[in-house]
Amino acid sequence: MTGQQHDDRRKNAGVLKVQPYLADYEATRKTFSWDQARRGLSGLPGGRGLNIAYEAADRHAIGSQGRKEALRFIRADGSTYSLTYSELAFQSSRFASVLRGLGVQAGARVFTLLTRCPGLYIAMLGTFKNAGVVCPLFSAFGPDPIRQRLQLGTGQVLVTTKALYRKKVAPVRADLPDLRYILLTDADGAPEPGTLDLEALMASAAPAAGIAPTQPEDVALLHFTSGTTGTPKGAIHVHEAVVAHYATGRFVLDLHPDDVYWCTADPGWVTGTSYGVIAPLVHGVTVLVDEEEMDVDRWYRILADQKVTIWYTAPTALRMLMKAGAERAAGYGFPALRLIASVGEPLNPEAIVWAQKVLGLPVHDNWWQTETGGIMIANYPSMPIRPGSMGRPMPGIEAALVARDSEGKPVIEEGEVKLITESDTMGELALRPGWPSMFRGYLNDEERYRRCFAGGWYLTGDLAKRDKDGYFWFVGRGDDLIKSSGHLIGPFEVESCLLEHPAVAEAGVIGIPDPVAGEVVKAFIELKAGNQPSDDLRLEIIGFARKRLGAAVAPRLLDFTTGLPRTRSGKILRRLLKARELGLPEGDLSTLEQGSRRP
Ligand code: AMP
Repeated sequence: MTGQQHDDRRKNAGVLKVQPYLADYEATRKTFSWDQARRGLSGLPGGRGLNIAYEAADRHAIGSQGRKEALRFIRADGSTYSLTYSELAFQSSRFASVLRGLGVQAGARVFTLLTRCPGLYIAMLGTFKNAGVVCPLFSAFGPDPIRQRLQLGTGQVLVTTKALYRKKVAPVRADLPDLRYILLTDADGAPEPGTLDLEALMASAAPAAGIAPTQPEDVALLHFTSGTTGTPKGAIHVHEAVVAHYATGRFVLDLHPDDVYWCTADPGWVTGTSYGVIAPLVHGVTVLVDEEEMDVDRWYRILADQKVTIWYTAPTALRMLMKAGAERAAGYGFPALRLIASVGEPLNPEAIVWAQKVLGLPVHDNWWQTETGGIMIANYPSMPIRPGSMGRPMPGIEAALVARDSEGKPVIEEGEVKLITESDTMGELALRPGWPSMFRGYLNDEERYRRCFAGGWYLTGDLAKRDKDGYFWFVGRGDDLIKSSGHLIGPFEVESCLLEHPAVAEAGVIGIPDPVAGEVVKAFIELKAGNQPSDDLRLEIIGFARKRLGAAVAPRLLDFTTGLPRTRSGKILRRLLKARELGLPEGDLSTLEQGSRRP
């Protein structure tokens, strides 16, 4: 791509065309309240409560807004079809009627095991309307994680397809006595034995019987997140979470009515639910849904042809685009794009520079986790980005750093947790409870939930620093930190440096026990196409890191690999790298990406 083309992209960038909702961070922080954010929602008519589905669909289905595209699906061949807001409201009400007709009670857990198809969105919203609890499963899960989650969550209903049922559910059906109904979205008049034809039920369902009068504290979602042990944790979320989805959709993703928004996360993950379904629909924008998996040319084509204005993606996807080379973007223009945001993993500064060059805009990193239900810390569109920083807390969110003792426990002094007040000093990232999308518990594990809190703070398990201007910098998961010769080393810092080497595509860094240093830093490297592993290259990359990081922090050991273990949502699983390296038990592998499995 020529320099002139870059300039054109920047000049055309939609970033200048819309005034961000959060124009002044400090002023907004001062005046913000969750009550005020709540006023951006409608509430159920007649003051009957709060329901996510009403905010996401029905309130937009009235008048001309009802004809607006809510969901635009992109088929494998690139053609599209849509559901309008009124269709989404109607169909999800029908789904609720089906549940009611089957006698599925309020509070029952409805699991979805679907690819990104209309049925997924309809089932989610329909379940909310029936006062049920949505539990999305990732369609690439195998039978074991599906069985395990359905058992843990005592799922009564599962919505899936014929093919997924045959391959993944039928083999474990006998182990699921609580599962009363399996609804197939594509039964086509011929459901499998023991399943029901959802389309047929929808066609004959009584007309919508209205939305159940759910209250803000009624449970709406159950999201499983993998723990370091063998059992996934089920994080419980309530309808009130929609207040945070609305507020973050406004201030972080800057969703304006005319936006065409694309969140690349699958709704089987919390990002795909909170920000692939709820937040954008609550804002009444048009949500793009790609039915296919990640592909470099396809993604550039979607960004360009669909005139995406706001793109929410993940560092792993950005690194895949980077790996393919900037020239693959040549020939595509992105004049409509006005905001790129990223979540899920540390965003290496390299990716920000790359995006600015290739897409004409930088990437805005933000931080949150399954337990927080919504974005907590962010780089906002109106603020200069600090590459490598997660940004500043959302208005309404109080974040702090808690000092930890040598065992990683919070330091308590005179009954209070010790907060770190100095800048650039590492501590455990903590949040003051009380925001609307905070998880309300772990399913069947009160004790584990209790352990997340100390001295009035929710402890996130992540380590971070804060600079003098209040920007937070991610250091690593508490469990991923490396202690070498008395230094505490965050793997992210080392990985980011390694990524700056021209031959490096991906890097995963762990600590290896060492009799002298305690631990030494070891890096696992995936190379960019056109580079071959060699001893010379190994030395060159170690030397490169040493020059930048110093000998105490740079990797002492380096292996080349072709497949770093990643979760299906793209995070590098450092604990697994380490377990494999040291021959330790591998723990819960249900979220591991297929390609990362051992042969
Ligand atoms: P999950 O609950 O699976 O969404 O994972 C949440 C975890 O992902 C966080 O606790 C962090 O360790 C990591 N994470 C999410 N966003 C970021 C980010 N912007 N920078 C660094 N780590 C992140």
